[in-house]
Amino acid sequence: GKLKEGLSKTRDNLVNKISETISGKAKVDEETLEELEEVLITSDIGSQIAEEIIEKARALFKKESDRSVDNFKKIIKEELEAVLSQAKTNGEIDLSQKPYVIVIIGVNGSGKTTSVGKLAYNFKRSGLKVKIGSADTFRAAANDQLEIWANKAGVDIISTNTKEPSAVAFDTIKAAQKDGTDIVIIDTAGRLHTQKNLMDELNKIHRVINNLLPYAPNEILMVLDGTAGQNAVRQVEEFEKYTKPTGIIITKLDGTAKGGVIFRIISEKKIPVKYIGVGEGIEDLQDFSPKEFIEAMFG
Ligand code: GDP
Repeated sequence: GKLKEGLSKTRDNLVNKISETISGKAKVDEETLEELEEVLITSDIGSQIAEEIIEKARALFKKESDRSVDNFKKIIKEELEAVLSQAKTNGEIDLSQKPYVIVIIGVNGSGKTTSVGKLAYNFKRSGLKVKIGSADTFRAAANDQLEIWANKAGVDIISTNTKEPSAVAFDTIKAAQKDGTDIVIIDTAGRLHTQKNLMDELNKIHRVINNLLPYAPNEILMVLDGTAGQNAVRQVEEFEKYTKPTGIIITKLDGTAKGGVIFRIISEKKIPVKYIGVGEGIEDLQDFSPKEFIEAMFG
């Protein structure tokens, strides 16, 4: 479906390039392995995974008869599957203590606003009562956009352009406690050029939530632009200076050739990818499934 269609350029960049490199060759010899390593490194999966795959192939290619093209493809698929299997899939959301609070972080332009709207829509559709807190008070336009998304999703939004972000978080949780909301999603500002302000603001939001609800926030989801390639890894490292994301949303996987970065994020950052964006519409946020992702790439 949508995932397979969206990943066609990533597939071209990785799987099809591998096929091209080995097509017409009877055996995958050492020279071909070196060419393949180059292809893998330029495919955004990162040099670490690329080297691991080639090492694995060398180790398994003991006999001449092992060096077949099919065998090599099988090794890549298995290795990449192993990388993705480190990513935990979404379990049931624990609503024994309500509301369940999700804080959304990420740089501007990554698809943060859109993802909040899509996430709210998905929860609402599964029968949950959702409230959004628009604590990105720095950008008035982002606030307006988020209101449009909340309306589309049919969920409540608490927003104001004049208040402190932490006050918006406070008001949202108070309102959620009052009306039995299941899930609160707090959007935050994403400007990286004032790092100290950003850190102070995120910390303050965190403190306010935690004062009201000692078990929360339950999730800190970082939104990453899937077209950013290697830059996405750097963005995670920037934010890790302030807070430890519990999960990642990778957006814009439709149409990019750089979707390979998902492997790098999971293997290097050890943060589970929880959702993926595969389009601009409200229904275009999917739960991340390692199995489906591999199928879309190789299937
Ligand atoms: P923010 O600045 O981080 O809040 O980013 P926005 O949510 O406003 O998104 C920036 C742009 O990316 C918008 O044009 C969105 O439609 C687009 N966008 C967000 N997610 C996706 C996605 O999964 N696929 C595609 N194709 N576009 C997306």
